[in-house]
Amino acid sequence: MTLPWAESWSDRGKSDPAVYPDDVAALPAGCEVDGRRARRPIDDEVDFVVVGSGAAGATAAHTLAEAGYEVAIVEEGPWVRTREFQRDFYPALKQLWRAMGTHVASGRSLIPYMQGRCVGGTTVINSAIAWRAPSSVLDDWSTRWELGPDISERALDEHFAYLERELSVREVDDRVLGGNSSTFALGAARLGIESHVIQRYDRGCDGSASCSNGCRTAKKQGMNITFVPRALKAGARIYHSAEVRRVETRGDRAVAVFAEMNGPGGPHALRVRARKGVLMAASTVQSPNILRRSGLRNPHIGRHFQAHPGVSLAARFKRDVRMDFGATQGFNSLELLKKSGIKLESLMLPPELAIARLPGLGPELMDRFADFSRIAISAVVIKSEAEGVVSERFGAENLKFSLTERDMANALEGLELTTKILFEAGAEEVYPGAHGMPMVLRSADEAKLWREGPKDTRAYNMVMTHLFGATRMAREARAGVVGTDFQTHEIKGLYVLDSGVFPTNLGVNPQHTIMAMARLASSRLC
Ligand SMILES: Cc1cc2nc3c(=O)[nH]c(=O)nc-3n(C[C@H](O)[C@H](O)[C@H](O)COP(=O)(O)OP(=O)(O)OC[C@H]3O[C@@H](n4cnc5c(N)ncnc54)[C@H](O)[C@@H]3O)c2cc1C
Ligand code: SF4
Repeated sequence: MTLPWAESWSDRGKSDPAVYPDDVAALPAGCEVDGRRARRPIDDEVDFVVVGSGAAGATAAHTLAEAGYEVAIVEEGPWVRTREFQRDFYPALKQLWRAMGTHVASGRSLIPYMQGRCVGGTTVINSAIAWRAPSSVLDDWSTRWELGPDISERALDEHFAYLERELSVREVDDRVLGGNSSTFALGAARLGIESHVIQRYDRGCDGSASCSNGCRTAKKQGMNITFVPRALKAGARIYHSAEVRRVETRGDRAVAVFAEMNGPGGPHALRVRARKGVLMAASTVQSPNILRRSGLRNPHIGRHFQAHPGVSLAARFKRDVRMDFGATQGFNSLELLKKSGIKLESLMLPPELAIARLPGLGPELMDRFADFSRIAISAVVIKSEAEGVVSERFGAENLKFSLTERDMANALEGLELTTKILFEAGAEEVYPGAHGMPMVLRSADEAKLWREGPKDTRAYNMVMTHLFGATRMAREARAGVVGTDFQTHEIKGLYVLDSGVFPTNLGVNPQHTIMAMARLASSRLC
């Protein structure tokens, strides 16, 4: 069967022959070691070792290297270059995604959580949305969480502004808004609810609708093409395909990082000694396990994990929507954020994922899939109150997490409003994709069925992409893992910079706040 939209989908976003910032030729000689090629153990010494090259790690490495410090980044994943990014989703999953996106949080239900595992971390596969943390959240951290002026809107302001300038934060251009986001915008406008165009790290997005595969034209300003190369140009070096196993301590001080490289005849040891400090930025899921393996025993390590679980709704329209063109995400609504902690947004999915959101089997499913050009998808993102636990089991990461009743009630409210948005925009069918709901809704009146919709998370296909809190910040060791200087309460010279330090989740996309926090922390070390 030939799917009518398939040709245009495969044509978009091809690489062009320009020099990209991550091309080897654009980088200083000798600045990188690929652990897959290492043939012997390596011993190195620098001022600061940064573990992880994602939003937090790259920002810190860049800040410290530009301030003149000797910096080494140690990254578990490979450096996949812009020229190697793939149009199809399956190879991208293999290249860039941790465990090909198969990690799941277990609890009342199984919820996949998604992360990047490559130089640039999750910023390589994300949608590049840039949101400052809401004032209400930062005020809560300052007051209820007693972080005071050290971690406040005022303290973060200059860092947000710097990032917005340097990473070209801008609204999605009308030219590449695309049918999916325009559909969301139309429905929200007709309903008269708050909605607006999204801001992203973007230098001229071509609208290839495939941010999850890595940006093949280097328009998305991920860490792989921005702060990592800039740190290297400022004198840093990077060891990639090198998995950090533990931090070495002497007395109460961090002195080195120990990693493994799987080169020929390996694994080979990589030891990087740190004269001034070790900065942990391996994400809120991986950092707690490294800390535990390094002998830290603070009982809060791994606890208080939070997330923004998301669930999406697909709809079929009479007209073409064309999810194959546009910035991956372009429009959102905060109508329910304050009251219920819900954010609604347009979301383009590649066909390989979108098919999972369509109902039916066999010919019925294929008929709907053949109409892919008329399908739109929107997502409901939940600022959940649930807390989970990160640990290791038989050497593998293990995440326990279950949504609360209130989280589910909020999710249902979001699903009802999203259904209304899609019908207002002209949908002929909306597909709830939840066990206990009809397979197909055919009118806006049916949106109210969500009020009696399933409250059991097992009825839904949720995913989590925004993860927080498992090494949270608190002034005292009895309440958290790091102090307001981002240093662990237990070990001097050992800092945690990723979103694990956030005392709460945000309700909006976290990359911008993660980077601002990492820049605040590393600037204070300069
Ligand atoms: C599909 C998707 C879309 C998203 N879209 C957005 C968006 O549009 N806007 C937004 O704000 N947020 C978005 N996010 C979330 C955002 O990308 C992350 O919150 C953010 O990148 C996390 O930053 P981090 O530095 O904590 O971790 P990461 O960026 O994940 O970086 C951690 C790095 O550490 C490395 N690492 C882990 N363990 C080790 C180890 N043992 N040794 C060495 N290295 C290690 C990892 O390989 C990784 O490269 C999205 C996430 C996903 C999955
Ligand atoms: S949608 Fe835009 S930013 Fe995302 S991969 Fe395509 S061109 Fe790059």
